[in-house]
Amino acid sequence: MQPERKAGSNAHLKWVSEIPPLLLVDGAEFDKTIVTLYAYRHSYAQRHADAGTPPDVLRDLLGHEDIGTTQTYYRVTEKRLRSAVDKVVAFQLDRHGNRVWPEAKALLDHEHARMRVGAVTVPFGTCSEPSNVKAGGHACPFRFRCLGCGHFRTDPSYLPELRDYLHTLLRNKERIRAATELDSWAAVEAAPSDEEISRLRALIRLTERAVDELTDEDRAVLEDATSALRKVRQAVNLGMPGTAPPRSDPRLERNA
Ligand code: SF4
Repeated sequence: MQPERKAGSNAHLKWVSEIPPLLLVDGAEFDKTIVTLYAYRHSYAQRHADAGTPPDVLRDLLGHEDIGTTQTYYRVTEKRLRSAVDKVVAFQLDRHGNRVWPEAKALLDHEHARMRVGAVTVPFGTCSEPSNVKAGGHACPFRFRCLGCGHFRTDPSYLPELRDYLHTLLRNKERIRAATELDSWAAVEAAPSDEEISRLRALIRLTERAVDELTDEDRAVLEDATSALRKVRQAVNLGMPGTAPPRSDPRLERNA
């Protein structure tokens, strides 16, 4: 530690040890040993995050280069998460790109839980098919053909996955077109369909348009909500194979 930092830290330690006991709301004494200089930065970040400060603004305030570093400074609290779900769900689309909820509405508790932890998150959206929900998203009866399924919903927080999937489909289509080892019937069956690609393109376009039409302020709110949800999904979905983007065709991927 640099000498001036060490001196500052020592002075702070002395000051904390000399102040009267810190009492919590319930009267219990707060552990003063965890009152460190560094903890102030976390409290500062947490308060800003709870107040809705967008992550990129917070990154600048904390002087970080990487927004990933900033995100380690605060937790996504229950209140913020609930508000994030309410904001994002207002933009939820079905497979045809129709808004599911014409207006933002408060969701039931179980709907909140489902949306945020992704218990029934499927590739690039959510699934409400009962048997798949029961199996935590691992038992789709339709081989994850979500873009053609009435149980599927998506929203702007899944835009990165939607775009990735489009690139995968286009790549696979090219690869199959160039493959000489496939019989024509096998190539037709293995190739992503034009309908699926068009549906996906339309869904991305409509989702992007919905975001573009927002005012700068509303867009910032939505981006913050999206970032909160993605952060929680990322943490919860680690190791959950059912949440990975689908393979456009399992046989093709095996051969790739
Ligand atoms: S295709 Fe997708 S949305 Fe439909 S049941 Fe299967 S996982 Fe759910």
